[in-house]
Amino acid sequence: MIHVRASWMVAFLLSVLVTCALAAVGVMNGPSGSLGFLTAGPDDEAWIVETMPETFARRGREIGVARWTPDGALGDSSAWSDERTFTLGPMSAGGGFLDPEEVVSCWRLRVGWPLRSFEMSYWSRGTVRVEVDRFPAFFGAGFGGVPIGIRPAQLLGNLAFLTVAFGIGLTVLGEWRQRWRRRAGACIECGHLLAGATRCPECGAMIEGPRES
Ligand SMILES: [Zn+2]
Repeated sequence: MIHVRASWMVAFLLSVLVTCALAAVGVMNGPSGSLGFLTAGPDDEAWIVETMPETFARRGREIGVARWTPDGALGDSSAWSDERTFTLGPMSAGGGFLDPEEVVSCWRLRVGWPLRSFEMSYWSRGTVRVEVDRFPAFFGAGFGGVPIGIRPAQLLGNLAFLTVAFGIGLTVLGEWRQRWRRRAGACIECGHLLAGATRCPECGAMIEGPRES
């Protein structure tokens, strides 16, 4: 029983490690240079509205844009990441931009496996880039400067899935090891060769007594 509990604890730690590693890769990855074309999906407009800070919304009201729509959408996705870039230009502003050179871009990267549990994003206007710093929303101002957001439901889902997957894997490996040791005439607890003893001289486990695990 103790062995089963220990392997599930290890499985949970492994799932946390994998999840953190993907978040770190996401932070270091940043915007990629190799984007393929994608069509904007139905949830993208909601993301734009959520990502845009109030200053940008005010800019929209100034120039009479009530509803932003992307002029172009770029994206790239893999098994563990999803990246989207939108450009909002004069066309989506209905010709209302004061400066025809004024272009607004939004970039979003979501990483995690099997669900996208972390998100980074920024918007830029002309040459000014503004990171959308997600940590303050969860942990207060002390964590400023970390441009990554947690998607709680997806994070919990990933940890649960990975813990179960690693737990099953470790349990199966443990069973195989016990079976192999029993067949080899070794102690099933520590692997010490027994040579017919009824109690393991190495760890003290009883050999012929009632099996606990
Ligand atoms: Zn032993």
